Amino acid sequence: MDTSMLIGSKFEAGTETEEAILDPKTGETILNLPEASQSQIDAAVSAAQAAFANWSRTTPAQRSGYLLRIAERIEAEAEEFARLEALNCGKPINAALNDEIPAIVDCYRFFAGAVRTMPGVVAGEYLPGFTSMVRRDPVGIVASIAPWNYPLMMMAWKLAPAIAGGNTVVFKPSEQTPLTALKLAKILAEILPEGVVNVVLGRGETVGNALINHPKVNMISITGDVATGKKVLQAAAKSVKRTHLELGGKAPVIVFDDADLEAVVSGLRAFGYYNAGQDCTAACRIYAGKGIYEKLVADLSSVVSTIKYGQPDDTENEIGPLISQRQRDRVSSFVERAAELKHIEITTGGKPGAGSGFFYQPTVVAGALQEDEIVRREVFGPVVSVTRFSDVDEAVAWANDSDYGLASSVWTKDVSRAMATAARLQYGCTWINTHFMLTNEMPHGGLKQSGYGKDMSLYALEDYTAVRHVMVAHG
Ligand code: NAD
Repeated sequence: MDTSMLIGSKFEAGTETEEAILDPKTGETILNLPEASQSQIDAAVSAAQAAFANWSRTTPAQRSGYLLRIAERIEAEAEEFARLEALNCGKPINAALNDEIPAIVDCYRFFAGAVRTMPGVVAGEYLPGFTSMVRRDPVGIVASIAPWNYPLMMMAWKLAPAIAGGNTVVFKPSEQTPLTALKLAKILAEILPEGVVNVVLGRGETVGNALINHPKVNMISITGDVATGKKVLQAAAKSVKRTHLELGGKAPVIVFDDADLEAVVSGLRAFGYYNAGQDCTAACRIYAGKGIYEKLVADLSSVVSTIKYGQPDDTENEIGPLISQRQRDRVSSFVERAAELKHIEITTGGKPGAGSGFFYQPTVVAGALQEDEIVRREVFGPVVSVTRFSDVDEAVAWANDSDYGLASSVWTKDVSRAMATAARLQYGCTWINTHFMLTNEMPHGGLKQSGYGKDMSLYALEDYTAVRHVMVAHG
């Protein structure tokens, strides 16, 4: 495939250090990609700046038309996008094709519709003799930086509301997973006016750092680690850029004694391990009531041991490997340190998978205590901990006792208890009797160190636009 970056209307190869792009299923190198130089980054930002004047004056209906065409092309080339995503991330092909691509296509379609019906305060005479109106105008040039866990979806979550809102973008995919972004760049160059979206490649500390510090960039949107979010804030402070931060998570799952155990167990099997647990909303921190704890641990361990991975026929796989050897070592070391604690039992998994790929066995860590590292830190792997609680106050206190605040869930048959518990949780999302389900109409984003700003929904369009007041004096 052509692996050039998109800068304005030109496709160019990077001229700096090469990064090896790996197939996580085998550990083999797919290709080596050079990263952007400072002058290529400057050219991309300048192209976005040049495009802004016209793009910001297009009508919502015109931008909607462009977004619909992007959606159509991704849908038409779904199989090739899914193949590339599966290759570069190790995802099972069915997950990439049947779960992710439809949600990505729908994201562009949602924003195509949403931008035509943005709500707001009505215009009127709030002072006698003056008519006031509120506008929502673009912020300007957005530097968008994505992680490796859902590359094409994160690109959709960032590009769709940004360009719908009339902004222009310089997009940097993760240095580990650029392949689908490069393919989409070709399509974007055919559909969008020159410079509206630019795609540059490279590592965070070089290309990412140059983007977040760029004097012409008005807004930084990043999905990544908390430590990276903090660097973005430091860079943004220098020239007061707007920031949109989607950082990590450590989702608590409160299971009351009256919960439907079968639904809990099959839910955790799906939502704790999807994408090999490399998901900031993964159902990874279970708090189980003392009446249900033993049975939950036994049943969960039994079903988790049946999760299929590493099968030669990929259509049989439910989860893939981790993204890299480094990530697998990190996950392994979390589990090894947990296993050294006397109160902990690894009831299934707990070891790297066989073969040269970066597989890790789906793992259940039972008997974990609130202060344990495995309960407190984001593992980002197929590892779920289970902790026993004695009453609702303890469960809520422990669930909220986290630096993160992205996603959570509550499992009970008692609607009043579900609602009362959900109201007390400090998380951007609380699911009741489910977990992980996202829809483009609803916001996704965190509290606390999980960051702020919403992806998807009308709230994302608000984040990528500036509220302005225009007042007319009419005497
Ligand atoms: P990461 O922070 O290492 O990298 C994310 C992106 O930031 C990459 O493109 C990287 O190149 C770039 N980057 C790194 N350092 C940078 C710097 N100094 N300046 C500018 N850019 C820089 O994260 P990752 O390892 O790719 O992704 C995993 C993390 O992302 C996890 O912590 C996960 O929870 C989080 N995540 C959050 C969400 C969410 O919606 N909240 C979604 C997916 C992933």
